Amino acid sequence: MKIFCIGRNYVDHAKELNNKVPSQPLVFMKPPTALLRNNDAFYIPEFTSDVHYELELVLKIKKNGKYIQPAFAKDYYESVALGIDFTARDLQSQLKSKGHPWEIAKGFDNSAALSSFVDLPKEKNIRFQLFKNGNLVQDGASQDMIFDFDSLIVHISKYFTLQQGDLLYTGTPAGVGPVNIGDHLVATLQDTSLLDFYIK
Ligand code: ZN
Repeated sequence: MKIFCIGRNYVDHAKELNNKVPSQPLVFMKPPTALLRNNDAFYIPEFTSDVHYELELVLKIKKNGKYIQPAFAKDYYESVALGIDFTARDLQSQLKSKGHPWEIAKGFDNSAALSSFVDLPKEKNIRFQLFKNGNLVQDGASQDMIFDFDSLIVHISKYFTLQQGDLLYTGTPAGVGPVNIGDHLVATLQDTSLLDFYIK
């Protein structure tokens, strides 16, 4: 099982980190050992002092495919979850400044929180929100993605064979920020709570 992630897929988020808006999807991966499920607590690792949350819509790939054409992309997913792409921002900034790969800042153990999956909502625009200690910190809408679900499937499958069960974290909207020990994170999809866990 592979975990694909997309960077800078919302204009407002790209701007808040002083990144350019990409002309092609920015793809990176996390290993399966990054998964954090069942609302288990997230333990801040000792190698970082600046872990950020990034709330994202996550697709589950439902069948194998490669070089998927745009007209067929929608046949490759039917359920969605919420995920948090935990990022060691301090490490990532150091690595980015050197032009190095950023795996250790993004792919470490438990860095991919994942809710249960639900059927893709009928509405075209999917709303999702993150509350930290009861305060709204991210307010996302799928219509604001630079590259929509189908475009991401088409792009990624040019390079990687998609396999049933692969996951796709589709990028985070603006509002990313740090987590600290004791924080309580709750995330909702169309106003239904799917993630509810603590930082330890
Ligand atoms: Zn992300």
